[in-house]
This record gives sequence, C-alpha cells and structure tokens, in this order.
Amino acid sequence: MPSVSIDPFEAVKVRVEDVGRRMALGPGLIKILKRPKRELIVNFPVQMDDRTLRVFKGYRIQYNTALGPCKGGLRYLPGLSLNEVRALGALMTLKCAVVELPYGGAYGGISCNPKEMSLGELERMTRRYISEISIIIGPQEDILAPDVNTDERMMAWAMDTYSMNAGFSVPGVVTGKPPMIGGSVGRGDATARGLLYVVQQVFKDSGRDLRGSSAAVQGFGKVGSNIASLLSQEGCSVVAVSDSGGGVASDQGLDVEKLRLHKLGHGTVRDFPGGRQITKEELLATECDLLIPAALANAIHGDNAKTVGAQIVAEAANSPITPEADRLLTQQGVKVLPDILCSAGGVTVSYFEWVQDLQYYFWGLEEVRERLGEVMIKAYRRVKEVSDAEGVELRTAAYTVALRRLAEAYRLRGIFP
Ligand code: NAD
Repeated sequence: MPSVSIDPFEAVKVRVEDVGRRMALGPGLIKILKRPKRELIVNFPVQMDDRTLRVFKGYRIQYNTALGPCKGGLRYLPGLSLNEVRALGALMTLKCAVVELPYGGAYGGISCNPKEMSLGELERMTRRYISEISIIIGPQEDILAPDVNTDERMMAWAMDTYSMNAGFSVPGVVTGKPPMIGGSVGRGDATARGLLYVVQQVFKDSGRDLRGSSAAVQGFGKVGSNIASLLSQEGCSVVAVSDSGGGVASDQGLDVEKLRLHKLGHGTVRDFPGGRQITKEELLATECDLLIPAALANAIHGDNAKTVGAQIVAEAANSPITPEADRLLTQQGVKVLPDILCSAGGVTVSYFEWVQDLQYYFWGLEEVRERLGEVMIKAYRRVKEVSDAEGVELRTAAYTVALRRLAEAYRLRGIFP
C-alpha cells in the first residue's frame, strides 16, 4: 500500500500510544484517549437546484470532554471518511490541551464536493446537517468552527439554523462567524498569525532572523493565503505557493497581494503571471528556510519526504506529515513544528469568540492579537522546555504536554461511577 494512503487516525493513535507509554501513562488511560467518546453519523436529504434529491453523509465526532466542552471544525470534502474526522477530533483534543484552553475536542464534516454545488445547495445542506446534529451540539456541549471548504458564511447559516430551532439567538454554538452577528475580530487570520508567532520564536531561539529568510506555502486557502501575507509583511520572501490547481514560484519572492487577487479572479494560483509555473510536488522540494503545509493530511509522506528542500517545516494543516515521513525528516536534520502547537491559533481565537459571545461583550483587535500571542508563545515555551529537558523532538514534546494535562484531568475527575 503506498504510504500516502495512511489512515490519519491510525497515525494519531500510534503517536498517543508511543508517547503515552514513554510517559508511563498506564494502559487504561491510553485506551480511553485512543477512542472517541461519542460518534454521530447522519444521512440526510437535500433538494438540489434541478429538483432532484440527494442524500449526503455527515459526521460529528465528540472525541473527548475531560478538559471541557467539545470544540472543533466542520469540513466539506469529497469522500470524507469517518476515520478522517476521528483523527481531527483526536488532534483537536490534543491541540486544546497544549495551548491550555478549557475545551475537549470534536470534529465534523460532510462528504460532498462543494466546488460542484451552488450557494443555495450549500446553504440547504448546511442547514439540514446542523438540524440533524443539533441533538448533540450547543454552546455548553459542542461548538463548531470553519475548516476546509467552510467559511464564515456557513458559520452564519449554522448559527442561524441552531438559533431558529431554539427560538432565540445562540451565538456561542459556532465560532468563526462574521463579527456583525457575534464573531470575533481577528478570527479570520488567527491560525496564520498563531503560526507566525511560533515561527518567530523558533527563529529567535536559533539566533536567526525571519526577515530576509524564504518560505514555501502549500495550500492557498484561508490559512495558507494569510500565512503567505503575514510572512511577506514580516520581510520573509515567499518563493513558492501551491493550491489544488497547481503551483507558482519566484526566486525573487512572489507578490502575495497580487497573487491573492489572481486567486480571487481565477480560483487558483496557477498561471499567475508574476512567477514561473511549478507542480504541486515541486513546491515541496523548493529550497528555502521554511516550508508550510497548509492543505490536507499526508501531504509529506514516505515517498516524497527526502525531496523536502526546507530546513524547518511548520505544520499549519492537520496531520500533513505521515509518521514515516516524520522519521525521515528528522534523519535529514529538518526541524518539524507540530500541528497541535503550530495551528492552534484558530481555536484559540475561537475560544476568545466563545467567551465574548457568552458575555455579550466584545474585544478590540489589538486585545485579541495580544492575547493570542501570549497563549501561543507560552505554549511554545512549555513544549520547548520538555523537548530540551527530555531530549525529544518537538512533536513528542507537544504530545507529552497535552497528554499530561489530560491525564491530570482524569486523575482529578475520576472515572464515573
Ligand atoms: P481551505 O479550504 O480554505 O483551503 C485549503 C487549501 O488547500 C486550498 O487552497 C486548496 O486548493 C489547497 N489544496 C488542496 N489540495 C492540495 C494539494 N494537493 N496541493 C496543494 N494545495 C492543495 O482550508 P483552510 O481552512 O485553509 O485549512 C487548511 C488546513 O489547515 C487544513 O488541514 C485544516 O484542517 C487546517 N487548519 C485550519 C484551521 C482554520 O482555522 N481554518 C485551523 C487549524 C488548522
């Protein structure tokens, strides 16, 4: 079987097992942490524009609630599988624990191809899915957020659907909403900004300057495009970018704002006149200081890890590196900044949004960014301390920090009854 088809849930479970044993967590606790707490699968009909009915499959996985209410994204993807959503729920549980948010982890999604659907079809599908899972979500139970192929429009429909069924507005059931209806300022680029704060610290710690360095970004969606903009604003040259349509590169650095306009007009970065065309695989092999996978799982696998041309890989996507590729990159001396730390900026500002929604009291942009910086830098320091003290890679250190926190929560709460 080619290494790219590795099941992302297996990958997370293996890492939990390995790190859990290393920490002597005890087999009982490891067993709990390798299983989702609650799983809901819904098959539901949607009226399409041509008046035919289609039945979609949707999932909501409430992975763990030891540290607080469930929290996690919602993605729309063709062929989305139960195990993919389970993996995302497990990662979310670990991510919230690493950055010390009072949340458990969850995830959801619908197997569909949003690129082939009209806005009306997407709205009807979103609303029906939210109605179907409304029996288990809520501002105290499980809070949704945008992820791959979902954005603030869908979050607004989700919040409205839940609220219409409740009979009053419930902004706290969904984060990543437009600020007009209870969203937080600063949520749009929070994942990218959180990653930037971590990368800045890593460069600082190794006596290097981000200004004047170079980066390649895989994926030019909500996260990747914002990362490219922020890096370029910091004086880091973005020398290559790709999306599902292809890639573009320039040794002098791409004009990211012009590239964003091109993507807006053409739906892809391909054929951007300000650079040369490259393939999606060539993007990963770009010689640069920093590679940022910001697309889908398993992008870097056993067959292409050796081609990676960067010294540091900062994971913005969830599970972009398979365990085999992780080992190969380490052998090659590539430093990997793990997803559960690096991409936690989004859920951190989602937490701020939820707090603001529950209080009906909203913060300014500077306050949001300052608090995000505090959370991310503190989390990075905690992970770095464990990495230095125990002589382990940053991913193992991040899992150690997260699992310690979860283990402590179980110790304090005990096992009911
Ligand atoms: P998005 O749907 O906005 O963008 C995804 C991008 O990936 C698109 O540009 C798409 O063209 C590109 N892509 C898909 N396949 C590709 C391939 N083979 N090669 C290159 N590019 C490819 O999604 P997003 O919200 O930007 O999420 C991106 C990643 O970041 C996902 O793994 C997601 O789980 C993770 N993440 C997102 C958030 C968030 O706040 N949105 C938070 C944490 C982690």
